[in-house]
Amino acid sequence: MKSLPYRHTKIVFTIGPATNDAAVLEELLHAGVDVCRLNMAHATREWTAEALRNVDAACKAAGRRISIMMDIKGPEIRTGHLEEALELQRGEAFDFFIDPGAEPVLAGVRGVAVNYPRLLEDIEVGNTILVDSGLLRLRVEEIMEDRVRCSVRISGPLGSRRHINLPGVHVKLPALTEKDHHDIDIGIEQGVDFFALSFVRTSEDLETLRRTLAKKGSRAQIIAKIEDQSAISNLDDIIASSDGLMVARGDLGIEIPYETLPLVQRRAIRTCQRMGKPAIVATHMLESMIQNPLPTRAEISDIANAVDEQADAIMLSGETTVGKYPVECVHVMNRIIRAVQAQGENRYNDQLVLKTAKARMLKAAMILSDEIGNSFITVFTRRGILARTLSALRPLHSPVFAFTDDEAVFKNLLLYWGVEPFFMEFEEDFEQTILNAYERLKTGGWARKGDSSVIITNVLAR
Ligand code: PEP
Repeated sequence: MKSLPYRHTKIVFTIGPATNDAAVLEELLHAGVDVCRLNMAHATREWTAEALRNVDAACKAAGRRISIMMDIKGPEIRTGHLEEALELQRGEAFDFFIDPGAEPVLAGVRGVAVNYPRLLEDIEVGNTILVDSGLLRLRVEEIMEDRVRCSVRISGPLGSRRHINLPGVHVKLPALTEKDHHDIDIGIEQGVDFFALSFVRTSEDLETLRRTLAKKGSRAQIIAKIEDQSAISNLDDIIASSDGLMVARGDLGIEIPYETLPLVQRRAIRTCQRMGKPAIVATHMLESMIQNPLPTRAEISDIANAVDEQADAIMLSGETTVGKYPVECVHVMNRIIRAVQAQGENRYNDQLVLKTAKARMLKAAMILSDEIGNSFITVFTRRGILARTLSALRPLHSPVFAFTDDEAVFKNLLLYWGVEPFFMEFEEDFEQTILNAYERLKTGGWARKGDSSVIITNVLAR
């Protein structure tokens, strides 16, 4: 296995037309991606299988492995199918109706269907309807018998099956749609490591997914995507019920006043740290690099800020699905992470609630390693708990090298701040297991002669 220099903050990328190719994926792996995200908004079974075949081939060629996160769409609201885009004019009246068979033009007013059966009950006059990430903005003027009549405030083209946001409206759709159930089956068949659930509003949404996965025998972990006001109102419960959080800034920046976005991001990351759960910062991190080979100064600062806030991972979306410079984006992220890691304000996570004697022992071991200097932590972990706790403690100087004999744990740990996981069978003779681990670290270039290590294990106690 080829190794990359040690890095705290992990990189998630989204696979798409620009990267769904084994050669490009191999370059991304060499550049340092840790997790591949499949956005299931438009994905089919065939596309998913092909993408994962390509990832697999690239991993073999690159000698590195990454984990897979399937992003299921949850209760997303979309406009209906249109043969041709409609050009909406400012001031024009425009309708949204729920019956896909309804007359699209009523008394000269154009309209489009929406896949939200309770639209007429849940929306009020004066509410805003945003289409296509806010490119189109409409104001609700009248609730009619079978449609909502709006006036166009920001004009533009309305394409087929566009995403809709209803800021401030408590959307009453089930947590999992029929397509989600279908996608979950595909994800389980393909052995994905994480399911990210979109538009989580309450912890019950996550419990619904957890029960579904348990029934189907999946051990995949659940990442809650927070994307609207309900999620923020229920943030603590959502984080407690999840295995990790994604600050999905695309939708969040539309659903809440955008000036509060940095505050919500900081609060979400801090709450995750208090509860020892990983946090991913997503969307528009290098948006300009979809077209340009270099980032803007604001993007550099945004990434540096997320790294400084000690997010576990940062994520690429459009940059790697349709962008012209997907590999360069990963290099850019890597350079910024390294610079901040070396000179930023690293700090222990004093917020983490240490509930057990074992957790307090891990904290002592981390401080010991940090104080020795030129030291790393070698942890042998079967269920991943020791490694996850060490990650949550946020060691200042000590990399956490986590050895596990469980493939699923290995893949899961790829997302965690500061942890470099290794998959390895454990020997009956524990001393031999340690020697094997050190050999892996030396040959991979992770450890040098003269480095010290604190060893943590409960593998001895079989
Ligand atoms: C987001 O809205 O920021 C996000 C990650 O979700 P999606 O890309 O699935 O809309």
